[in-house]
Amino acid sequence: MTTATPSSQDPQAQAAAPGGEQRTFSTEVQQLLHLMVHSLYSKKEIFLRELISNSSDAIDTLRFLALTRPELKPAAEGELAEAPAIEIAIDKDQKIIRITDTGIGMTRQQVIDNIGTIARSGTATLVKQLAQQKEKAQSGQALDVIGQFGVGFYSAFMVADKVELDTLSAEPGAEPVLWTCHGGGTYTISSSSRRRIGTTVTLHLNSDAAEFLEDWRLEGIVKQYSNYVKWPIKLGERQLNRATALWAKRPSEVSEDEYKDFYKELMGGFVTDEPLARLHIHLDAPYQFQAIVYIPQKPGFDFLADRDDKRRGMQLYVRRVFILDHADELLPPWLRFVRGVVDSDDLPLNVSREILQKNQVISAIQKQLVKKILDELKRAKNDKPDLYRAFFEEFGTVLKEGIFLDAGNREKVAEICLWQSLKTPVDKHITLPEYVAAMPEGQDEIYFITGSSRAVLEASPHVESLRRLGVDVLLLTDAVDEWVVQGLSEFDKKKLKPVHKGDFTPPKVKPKDGSDESKEKSEPEAKPGDEAELGSLVAHLRSRFQEQVKEVRLSSRLEGSPCVLVSDEGDLGPHMEQILLRAGRKVQVQKPILEINPKNPLVKSLAHLLVVRPGSDDVATYSDLILDLAYLAQGAVPRPGSTLAALGKVLERDLRSVAT
Ligand code: ADP
Repeated sequence: MTTATPSSQDPQAQAAAPGGEQRTFSTEVQQLLHLMVHSLYSKKEIFLRELISNSSDAIDTLRFLALTRPELKPAAEGELAEAPAIEIAIDKDQKIIRITDTGIGMTRQQVIDNIGTIARSGTATLVKQLAQQKEKAQSGQALDVIGQFGVGFYSAFMVADKVELDTLSAEPGAEPVLWTCHGGGTYTISSSSRRRIGTTVTLHLNSDAAEFLEDWRLEGIVKQYSNYVKWPIKLGERQLNRATALWAKRPSEVSEDEYKDFYKELMGGFVTDEPLARLHIHLDAPYQFQAIVYIPQKPGFDFLADRDDKRRGMQLYVRRVFILDHADELLPPWLRFVRGVVDSDDLPLNVSREILQKNQVISAIQKQLVKKILDELKRAKNDKPDLYRAFFEEFGTVLKEGIFLDAGNREKVAEICLWQSLKTPVDKHITLPEYVAAMPEGQDEIYFITGSSRAVLEASPHVESLRRLGVDVLLLTDAVDEWVVQGLSEFDKKKLKPVHKGDFTPPKVKPKDGSDESKEKSEPEAKPGDEAELGSLVAHLRSRFQEQVKEVRLSSRLEGSPCVLVSDEGDLGPHMEQILLRAGRKVQVQKPILEINPKNPLVKSLAHLLVVRPGSDDVATYSDLILDLAYLAQGAVPRPGSTLAALGKVLERDLRSVAT
């Protein structure tokens, strides 16, 4: 008995065993096998999906390699006139299932490397999860991880107590090998008499798995999990799967159920919801391609995957030959939630990822897809507003990236985005076209404000005059919105104007509440001394806060609030600064501008206090509180300790005067 692991480089460490050479699995495989053998997972049937998928991959691989390696061609095209196929055979007497494919096969070393160890990343995590789930399973909960991850070849041990793999590689000169394992810590590898290129997996079913000896049961499993595997899956003479490429059919020939099943397939088989929209495209110019594309409503499970390449995306086929599983080049990153298949006759079969990136056929296809997807999204927005809203809540932040990443489609993407606004109820949204249509006479810019939450923005002094005038303001709270407004300087020829940056004077529109400007003016006439007092207050605050603010000035944007902080036109602004800081970026934090409201009683009184008791403690306390109020309106004060102390002092005095 040997203890050599398959990764051992020392051939001496491997002793010959009767009927072949016995080897030991890597620890990870042993753990996984143990879990499979003792599995309580209720859907043991997935073993067939896993084995069929391996077979299908093996056929793909052979055909793909044969395109560039003529020496493999005879095997790929079937020297013995074998059409590519996956055959299932049942032997009821011996309680055996055999799955045979005409794929690439494996050399001896490949069997050792592929089947003896687990090369896939994240397997350790998976094994750990399985172990944890198993504990749960014993307390009655289901083992869901197996179904979610797919454990490949080893799932065979959920239903079999002995598995054989007989294989002959298509590599010229390869020797056939037979691999045998009883589910323990070791396996044997010996020579085989196999003549056909490809692989046969033989499962000696355990006593609990008798159900899988029934034709109807296997047929059901194939239909459920492997219907669109493109190679024929045969049970005897009968083909069990559809195998046709759905996208190659005319849309009128495809049923709703077929589209639904295909969507499930693309999303990894675990979706319950319907997609928001679907496109089935056949185009011949400028380049020929066929595609089925789904716009999901919710992210699939694969979004949880730890690695990019484990995530699903667009699949690329060339003349029905599968090329790539996540052909990101087919769509811009801001449409990365879209799932589908593209098949083109106009691409070379031996495309690599590098070629894809600068291939003009691909970029032409991408252009067409983007245009059609945007049109479809617009239609969905108009025709199914509720579903569209649900979709936008999930993927809106991704879609919005298109506004700053894709200058060519900027306006089109902006048009289908949903926004919050001052005048839109919390549970509703507004679009830019709707905003523009509702602009009153006298307003010629689109107003927006960015910040951390709707509550903060609604209460912001920046919007109070606009609220009184009945003018709407977009409330932008997504981190990505900061980039959006940098990319989108105008929409429908109307400039986007931040109400919280630079100089801002409310537009001259007729106030909606009927109060008109002249009435406004009828507030008590400013006394001649007022202006001078306000001037001194500005000068005083300027020198007191020279560390904290860039400038202090009288405000023309405020309504009732005493003061507000404003960012300079070109500055990032507090929200963007926070986002960048949180993302770990170095940010040159810019000082804000403090604007004070000359009409506000608090401001006026402070100005007066400064005249009558200059240099007093009270002037200092109230001045500091004015700045704190401005910060508070933005969401938080920079030094809560000193704010609390000042507030405490003022409250105490006020309370004493109230109480007496
Ligand atoms: P996965 O398929 O996810 O890689 P598996 O454990 O199912 O994991 O298979 C491991 C590897 O063994 C495969 O990647 C493939 O290289 C090889 N393999 C499995 N089944 C076959 C087969 N029928 N023909 C050729 N190679 C196979």
